[in-house]
Amino acid sequence: MGRALIIGAGGVASVVAHKCCQNSEVFEEICIASRTKSKCDALKAKLEGGKTKIETAQVDADHVEELVALINSYKPDIVINVALPYQDLTIMDACLETKTHYLDTANYEPLDTAKFEYSWQWAYREKFEKAGITAILGCGFDPGVTGVFSAYAQKHYFDEIHYIDILDANAGDHGYPFATNFNPEINIREVTAKGSYIENGEWVETEPMEIKRVYDFPEIGEKDMYLLHHEELESLALNIKGIKRIRFFMTFSEKYLTHLNVLQNVGMTSIEPIMYEGKEIVPLQFLKAVLPDPASLGPRTKGKTNIGCIYQGVKDGKPVKYYVYNVCDHESCYKEVGSQAISYTTGVPAMIGAMMLLKGEWKKPGVYNVEEFNPDPFMDALNEWGLPWQESFAPKLVD
Ligand code: NDP
Repeated sequence: MGRALIIGAGGVASVVAHKCCQNSEVFEEICIASRTKSKCDALKAKLEGGKTKIETAQVDADHVEELVALINSYKPDIVINVALPYQDLTIMDACLETKTHYLDTANYEPLDTAKFEYSWQWAYREKFEKAGITAILGCGFDPGVTGVFSAYAQKHYFDEIHYIDILDANAGDHGYPFATNFNPEINIREVTAKGSYIENGEWVETEPMEIKRVYDFPEIGEKDMYLLHHEELESLALNIKGIKRIRFFMTFSEKYLTHLNVLQNVGMTSIEPIMYEGKEIVPLQFLKAVLPDPASLGPRTKGKTNIGCIYQGVKDGKPVKYYVYNVCDHESCYKEVGSQAISYTTGVPAMIGAMMLLKGEWKKPGVYNVEEFNPDPFMDALNEWGLPWQESFAPKLVD
């Protein structure tokens, strides 16, 4: 059916490539392109033998002209951006120039400010519309599946959704005293930032980790979770009807938070460059270099993740509560694709989003968040491609 250019060769890219190869009817050809070509070649070596034809390429996605040259020579139907959020705009520029569809899993973040919001990418709406190409933003799990869950809840169970709580629990244990499950730089920037949520149309800001709740997660049990700022709050507040409050919580163990506090207190999580032995270094980037590579956690991680959303609202004048979630097992993911569940829960939805576009289900010129498309074929595909979901109409609520 089509050919995809995957940019990035890290944890998430590896899952996307594995899943595209499992789905060779849709992904007849893929090209894995990244800054370090040897990583693309290593991935290709693992994947070869199936029906999907695999190529690799070197590209520095910070440079639009390099991307344009690669896209012009490979001629993909879609670019799946699973590099880092810093590359979103250059890749979107290259897609515009070559009139190629675009998908990513995280919104743009400038390298020198720990700030993420959709404004930069939403500014491309008109240009994409005029070029006749589609950009699907934030198509991992959260953001991504959380948006699809929300569109599904709105379509089938509610006239108005008043409250959304997104709960992201990871009960995986990798045996290290401290490691992050995905890119440490991105992860630490996210969790050390101030928290925020939306109430009555306004952003309410909190100190980092100021709001803590305990929740008893299906198949995982009781966990401490903390309110964080998260990018899908911004788009869901606009795209879901009737929202009064929307919050995002993620679980962290006491051990993780103690390490993070110490690292923060000594300045290791700073993104301000410092001079070290005559060379400028960024402490957080140095920290990334000494921490375990998230890709190495796969074989060591045991336990499950549970990510889902709790909705409260009304249907036909009656109050409705609805909880929809996926439970994913780290060891099963590793057995299937050689990665732990964090990369798996991001990479599978990215493949499904690209498939939605190639099949024409999610194809409309412009720049869209996932909740702006029909959720039904995506929900079916989640069950088919490894992220089955469960639902409950009597969930325990978060106070
Ligand atoms: P990794 O750090 O494992 O991989 C990133 C890859 O991007 C590496 O292969 C890296 O290359 C490559 N890369 C970085 N800069 C460039 C560049 N300038 N040009 C070309 N390639 C580049 O990250 P993950 O796989 O864990 O995460 C990938 C994306 O997924 C991130 O944007 C992350 O925020 C997002 N994510 C989204 C989630 C969701 O649920 N929505 C959850 C988890 C992650 P090199 O090897 O040379 O460094």
